[in-house]
Amino acid sequence: MLRRTVLASMAASLAAPALADTYPSKPINLIVPFAAGGPTDLMARIVGERMAKELGQQFIIDNTTGAAGSIAVGKAARAAPDGYTVQIGHVGTNVANGTIYKNLTYDLLTDLVPIARLPQNPMLIVSSNQLPAKTLKELVAYLKANPDKVPGGTAGMGSGSHLGALAFFAATGVTYQLVPYRGTGPAMQDLMANQIQVMVDQSSNSLPQVQAGKVRAYGITAKARSAAAPDIPTAAEGGFPMEVSIWHGLWAPKGTPADIVARLNKAAIASLQDPAIRKRLEELGQDIPTPAEMAPPAFASFQKEEYARWKKILEAANVKVE
Ligand code: ASP
Repeated sequence: MLRRTVLASMAASLAAPALADTYPSKPINLIVPFAAGGPTDLMARIVGERMAKELGQQFIIDNTTGAAGSIAVGKAARAAPDGYTVQIGHVGTNVANGTIYKNLTYDLLTDLVPIARLPQNPMLIVSSNQLPAKTLKELVAYLKANPDKVPGGTAGMGSGSHLGALAFFAATGVTYQLVPYRGTGPAMQDLMANQIQVMVDQSSNSLPQVQAGKVRAYGITAKARSAAAPDIPTAAEGGFPMEVSIWHGLWAPKGTPADIVARLNKAAIASLQDPAIRKRLEELGQDIPTPAEMAPPAFASFQKEEYARWKKILEAANVKVE
């Protein structure tokens, strides 16, 4: 009986190749939790396009926006775990939101499986060119003179630009008004048009506009200046030390077969080893993780550590959305 079962299952496995042998046989849905044209969308497009070459299938970009990415992550957590849904996210969507949003219907650490860590970038403190302040000290004085009145962009409570704003408030003792957008792509459009006036935004989104002279940069939230922007002083050089770095990653719904996760991880590693991709990312101020840091178990531990670290910071700042 046992023998017959074994033979039957052997026959079945011969007839039906393992999922990973034929994977991927159709395009893969890549859920992006923020608006098109912003930093997460850009990361998805740069890495996704190169991964698609490795995998021989396209990624279909699905920009599902709202609630700083928590709607998109819920969609990914509930999707079929068949390798055809992948979610890109960052320290906001897949870490901070777990502490900030009290009504999430999923667990960030257990309902999704990490595929690969992706690059990280510091943030730039930027303003509309129309603001009179020319240095970080002048910006802080301006905000002090107009307490909580100056409109500043964020991609929602828990987004990178919100975490950046919190670091800015803590370091300077002044605040600005938080205006939520579906991503800092659209927020940047409004900053250039002086509809909002300040933002702490990922380097990959803001640096090209600073270099084009369309917005003004006051400082970078990193220990050292960036090779991509050697003229921009660190926030510490400007008198207000603060360090925030926004890292991205890829996840799949819990239950996605391990061999498929491994296949996707391999494609992600190959894409970040490509010299042309590295150059493009480095020009945007991104630091590229090593293949060892990108391995799913290493990335899972990193995500857990970051979860605990941000939980402390956010609880101390009493940031929550009921
Ligand atoms: N990552 C967001 C975006 O792509 C921005 C943010 O988190 O601040 O728009």
